[in-house]
Amino acid sequence: MREWIDMRVMDPLFMRQLPAGVGVSLYSEADREMHRALEGDAYREEDEPRRLYYAKDSPVWDQVREATYALRATGHEPVYHAWYVRRYTQRELASAELLRLLIPRDFQPAGEECGTVYDESTSCPRCGVGRLQKSDLHVRLRRVFQEYPSIPQAKRTGIARTIADEIIVSRTTADLMRQARITGVKLLPVRGCGSDADITPLWHQFAVVGSAGRMMSPTVFGIGPFNPDEEGEYRCPMGHVSGLNLLSEVYIYRSEWDGSDAAATADLVGRRIGLLVPTPVILISQRFHQLLKANNVKGVKVEVAHLV
Ligand SMILES: [Zn+2]
Repeated sequence: MREWIDMRVMDPLFMRQLPAGVGVSLYSEADREMHRALEGDAYREEDEPRRLYYAKDSPVWDQVREATYALRATGHEPVYHAWYVRRYTQRELASAELLRLLIPRDFQPAGEECGTVYDESTSCPRCGVGRLQKSDLHVRLRRVFQEYPSIPQAKRTGIARTIADEIIVSRTTADLMRQARITGVKLLPVRGCGSDADITPLWHQFAVVGSAGRMMSPTVFGIGPFNPDEEGEYRCPMGHVSGLNLLSEVYIYRSEWDGSDAAATADLVGRRIGLLVPTPVILISQRFHQLLKANNVKGVKVEVAHLV
């Protein structure tokens, strides 16, 4: 596995703390012309938003980390987005016993806005985890990458999720899972948007019921690569939420995994805000991974997960 950090810096104050010439400007020559015209002599090329993309062990990141801490100490919270990028060899992916399932394709509106009923009365008052789905999932289907007959099979989305992490799979993917007797997932009906909308035969809700137990050290959680959340602002004191973001590969206790082809972690990641909810990490077996891969199911990304 090789790991990079991808970072976008939009903050001139922060930029001035970074080594000169680090990364690349996100402005085109046309952007630059426009800003020069607007700002005149006050315009500084070194303040342009930049992208920094370097290997995780690059010494650049030590300087970035120091700059974030120095700025924070002055009371200025640096403005940037940063995330880890992991790449694996085919052999690494094929030899892992368990993989983390990532679903990059998300869509709006959330199920709640389309008539899905949730019971929040059992939710944790601190982190909001624990709401129960009390109706079929309703989603706006024309916002999803549809299984229209006019779209070639190879391009149809196999799995997608709403911004509130309600996961749906296409009929084709659901059929594959049934034939292979994939365990740990319930395939539930999906309805269109609106409380009286009909069931669609094209999609199923992908409700993970398999249990992966808790994530364990050395799994890393935090606000971001340079913001570890030392105070635990985003950790639920009851143990439901482990952090705002997952920053490393996942490690779980072998003894707590129930052996299902799809399993959700007991502790969650994220934050209850607006329509967004903390979500478990979903882990899939190598068998399930091979099924998705062999059938070229679109909308799937995986990382290696570790059983200890
Ligand atoms: Zn909680």
